[in-house]
Amino acid sequence: MRIVIAGGGLAGLTLAHYLNRNGLDVAVYERDADIAAREAGYRIHINSTGTSALHAALEPRLWELFLATCGMPSEDMLLFDEQLNLRPGRDRSATEGTGVPADIPEHLVVCRSTLRRILYLGLEKAVHFGAKVTGYRTHLDSSVTVLLEGGATVEADVLIAADGINSAVRAQRLPQVQVADLGSRHIAAKIHLTDEAKATLPAELFNAFSLAYDADFTGLTLGPLERTDPASPLIAEQDPGFRREATADYALSIFNSLPDLMLPDDELFTADPDELKAHALQRVAGWHPALVDTVRLWDTVTVQALKCRSCVPVDAWEPSHITVMGDAVHAMSPALGIGANTALRDAHTLGDQLLAVAADDKPLLDGVAGYEQAMRDYAYHALRMSAFVGQKVIGHLPLPE
Ligand SMILES: Cc1cc2nc3c(=O)[nH]c(=O)nc-3n(C[C@H](O)[C@H](O)[C@H](O)COP(=O)(O)OP(=O)(O)OC[C@H]3O[C@@H](n4cnc5c(N)ncnc54)[C@H](O)[C@@H]3O)c2cc1C
Repeated sequence: MRIVIAGGGLAGLTLAHYLNRNGLDVAVYERDADIAAREAGYRIHINSTGTSALHAALEPRLWELFLATCGMPSEDMLLFDEQLNLRPGRDRSATEGTGVPADIPEHLVVCRSTLRRILYLGLEKAVHFGAKVTGYRTHLDSSVTVLLEGGATVEADVLIAADGINSAVRAQRLPQVQVADLGSRHIAAKIHLTDEAKATLPAELFNAFSLAYDADFTGLTLGPLERTDPASPLIAEQDPGFRREATADYALSIFNSLPDLMLPDDELFTADPDELKAHALQRVAGWHPALVDTVRLWDTVTVQALKCRSCVPVDAWEPSHITVMGDAVHAMSPALGIGANTALRDAHTLGDQLLAVAADDKPLLDGVAGYEQAMRDYAYHALRMSAFVGQKVIGHLPLPE
């Protein structure tokens, strides 16, 4: 079975590892020029849904390397008002994961880019960089021709779209899937966790991902990543770029606001980082001093504006030799921090189905159907929960009907 994956993000690379580890060959086509082509990434929370998928996919040494580069907070998320008073707890069921053996931690935090580098290790021959997938053609014998930018093509028996929220393959395979602008605007930045920065910020902000927000749904988040084992020999044997990134402690900080209070889009998305930081500082001027300090500590070169978007669930579709996973089909509001976890779950679920197909336990279309049915159930649930909580704490728009 020729398995082609479009997109070498967290979902695509985890699936490639899982299949490789169980004896199946895959080819991944990734538009980036190389694994370090983008800036150093942001911190993501991984719950037991994500860790069980990674544990199943990674060889023991890579799993240990992953753990060494993670942080292990004691809580997942705390909510505050703008004066840093704790808000009432919330329903944690959506972020708790699916449950795993006791030796896998419930809460891990990791740098997305470091995890992606780890996922690339061992897949050097399978991943083709600088290869943007633009679409595909299907044939009467059920085979698929994958189209790459520049005119090259690749033949496949199954094509898996793991190419993120703007997926070209999804646009062709499931044109009915809409990506909605949820109306909230974010300015994200990194804070380098030097001793000085840590001395400035209160300890209560360090054990979890914190979100402080006011009555207008203007919010400020802080998500620290303090590595568990930066001196690990497994990190020491990696290349200098990996070592530098995987040992640096930082916090992800995001200022969010509704559009009528934020800079207009044409200014927001063209402003330089200094202007974005100045806007956030001006907007939190009357907030608790520790929260204002978090914005002061932003590393200006890392500041960027983001839109909050979500895929909109659609009715079940007929399975085919082209399927979809991760943000390509269920990008969701960031309110619960479960988009990557759901993408990793796809890798586990689809991987199991493809292994059953390879073992002649079922035909390919039955395997794809089994995966897609399960994925729609859990991923649309996660997506709707994220949108619901995002309305309550970020104040963004509901999903369109
Ligand atoms: C600031 C921020 C914080 C977040 N925090 C969390 C969190 O705490 N927990 C959590 O679970 N989730 C979090 N998320 C969501 C999470 O990052 C995504 O859900 C996850 O990265 C999706 O993985 P993916 O592999 O499906 O897509 P992506 O990570 O988007 O990967 C897609 C890959 O496909 C490649 N690609 C794109 N187009 C093409 C093409 N045409 N051809 C070939 N390759 C292509 C891209 O270069 C990329 O490598 C956060 C997101 C943001 C923005």
